[in-house]
Amino acid sequence: MMTSSTFTLEPTGLEFRFRRVRLVARDWLTPSYVRIRLQGAELAGFVSLGADDHIRIFFPDGDPQTVEELRAAPNREYTPFAWDEDWLELEFAIHGEPEKGTAGVAAAWAATAPLGAVAGVGGPRGSKVLSGRPDAWLLAGDETAVPAMRRFARTMDADAVGRVFVEVTDAAHELRIDAPAGVVVEQVHRETAPAGAALATRLDALDAGDRPAGSVFGFVAAEQSVVKPGRALLLDRWGLAPDQIVVKGYWKRGETEYHAPH
Ligand SMILES: Cc1cc2nc3c(=O)[nH]c(=O)nc-3n(C[C@H](O)[C@H](O)[C@H](O)COP(=O)(O)OP(=O)(O)OC[C@H]3O[C@@H](n4cnc5c(N)ncnc54)[C@H](O)[C@@H]3O)c2cc1C
Repeated sequence: MMTSSTFTLEPTGLEFRFRRVRLVARDWLTPSYVRIRLQGAELAGFVSLGADDHIRIFFPDGDPQTVEELRAAPNREYTPFAWDEDWLELEFAIHGEPEKGTAGVAAAWAATAPLGAVAGVGGPRGSKVLSGRPDAWLLAGDETAVPAMRRFARTMDADAVGRVFVEVTDAAHELRIDAPAGVVVEQVHRETAPAGAALATRLDALDAGDRPAGSVFGFVAAEQSVVKPGRALLLDRWGLAPDQIVVKGYWKRGETEYHAPH
């Protein structure tokens, strides 16, 4: 089933930089999803070459006076969504109840930190850069992967074809992915099921006959349990090459500060 490649994913290293920034704006896109803007002169030269790049955001309590103090703060991985010379936007899935202390440190900070709060930004250390043009796209993820899926969608040309699956709680929490007309975006509602289960069921329902012709770029990222059905679809049933897909757990149920294997 393998076809000649029309694109590659190329690992590209970047010089690591650590930057001090401040929270300057917060825009709620749904009741549990917020876009924030960080600002600071140290963002000059920030670059993120890969749509699924990650950076490490540091969340200090208060106003650390030294870089060492800031770098010692709790930190988590996020996807750079948009940026310019002195600002950087990120999107956060807000889980738990920040006001009641049941959210993680990152979700609580994104939901409640006062404007002006200090944060640190480390990286990205490197990227997987998609060069060339896949004949078709398959993107699937939960809220945490929406920034990456939105970035992939921004790179598609007007004639792109493919499918995007976005797992969210319900209709009130849907997250748009703006994609060309030939890319069908489907919102998968989890309702009361555990995160990842609805997306896994949706991926399990795709068989060999659903494989688009030609080369396909596959990206699947959500709660860790999505890795198995993601690989089963892309590698086993669709026969895609391992170096033309990205399948990752972006977080793990019950585990604080989960580090995805790289
Ligand atoms: C490469 C990469 C890129 C990522 N990009 C983004 C991004 O752009 N936006 C984004 O929102 N997330 C993103 N994530 C996921 C994010 O790093 C984790 O969700 C992180 O654990 C959140 O930190 P926290 O402090 O809020 O919760 P933690 O303190 O890490 O966890 C506390 C508890 O909350 C649970 N938990 C963590 N995340 C979620 C969730 N989303 N839903 C429900 N329960 C959860 C944990 O299982 C744990 O029980 C990315 C992860 C990776 C690996």
